[in-house]
Amino acid sequence: MNQIALLGATGSIGTSTLDVVRAHREQLQLYGVSAHRDWQKLATICQEFTPNVAILSDESVAAKLDRSAFPAETELRFGADALCDLAVEKPVHTVVAAIVGAAGLASSYEAAKAGKRLAIANKETLVVAGPLVMAAARESGAELLPVDSEHSAIYQALKSGEHREVAQVVLTSSGGPFRQKSAAEIKAATPEEALNHPTWDMGPKITIDSATLMNKALEVIEARWLFDLQADQIDVVVHPQSIVHSFVEFQDGSVIAQLSPPDMRLPIQYALAYPERWTAVAPRMDFKTACQLDFSPPDLERFPALQLGFEVARRGGSSGAVLNAANEVAVSRFLRGELSFYDIEKVCRQILDQHDFSPTPTFEELVALDDWARKETILWKS
Ligand code: NDP
Ligand code: MG
Repeated sequence: MNQIALLGATGSIGTSTLDVVRAHREQLQLYGVSAHRDWQKLATICQEFTPNVAILSDESVAAKLDRSAFPAETELRFGADALCDLAVEKPVHTVVAAIVGAAGLASSYEAAKAGKRLAIANKETLVVAGPLVMAAARESGAELLPVDSEHSAIYQALKSGEHREVAQVVLTSSGGPFRQKSAAEIKAATPEEALNHPTWDMGPKITIDSATLMNKALEVIEARWLFDLQADQIDVVVHPQSIVHSFVEFQDGSVIAQLSPPDMRLPIQYALAYPERWTAVAPRMDFKTACQLDFSPPDLERFPALQLGFEVARRGGSSGAVLNAANEVAVSRFLRGELSFYDIEKVCRQILDQHDFSPTPTFEELVALDDWARKETILWKS
């Protein structure tokens, strides 16, 4: 029985993970779950799965919640430190990192150091601290299984050859809701328009990232560290159907891809079942119905945020932490109507250029830089 700590159980990835657990109850058991503030939704999850531990990472929720909404067998804990404690707890075999943003970093890092299987949806962990997290996993023997659909596809495709035989990996991008919009239309985009993603139903932060293509920028950086690639081995192609989840091209010119309808339950299940493959909970491909697969190069003029991903992947060091923090704050300011759509890329670039670059930052230095970049982005005016 695989005991799971699901951090971020109330979110979009959390909800899909619960579906996978529901479908494979003989193999999977929820040992612990977390939410930040949504205690009612967490209580409903606990009523169904009776985990040993439930965490509300926002400590202030302790004073508000109704204890009787949770099963008596579930121990309630509060505060961000409780996430790290749960991630390293002995009975936990797999930590599903489904928190949004750099708030998910500390618990992912602890899981990697403790030798757990880390099913990693929280790409920000690798964007901010890829080299540290990968080194910790190597040392402890922790297995890092990507949940991001593109990286799950690459992980699977890489099994066709040796690492030294890889020529390049190509991440697919749906192109987001503004794929066919002009620069002028994109410039005037409202939060409502940006939140309307064509193929994926996700949390608000990643949905805005998908509209700017910052999500793909973060994924380029994620791939750089996760698969130990050079920045110039990573490319992006726009594929509006979101069926081919990525490609790996080997030195001999063979290109291996992974295909499936867009549904996060497949990559989540793959990360939990690995090295096995279990019966699908997500819908399967239907080759009896005609379908078309289109590919085109991304337009860096209309989507300049993507360029930041290639630059940060090349530069490494502290630049991922700064880009990520600036982007998190810029996205929330855009959602509040304080910044325009293209301001997101503009402020990220400026904060990145201004920061005191360090080629090999420690964890503490990354946390300090994250804090600095957030403060600068809050004050930034266009
Ligand atoms: P959601 O916004 O839907 O969910 C976020 C989860 O994190 C919720 O459980 C939320 O709790 C919790 N949370 C929010 N803020 C904090 C905090 N400060 N500290 C601790 N927990 C917090 O996000 P998604 O599920 O869409 O995304 C989660 C991660 O997975 C992101 O890193 C994203 O990039 C990645 N990802 C998501 C995909 C998707 O399809 N959604 C696809 C690929 C990657 P509460 O409900 O209480 O606020
Ligand atoms: Mg993705």
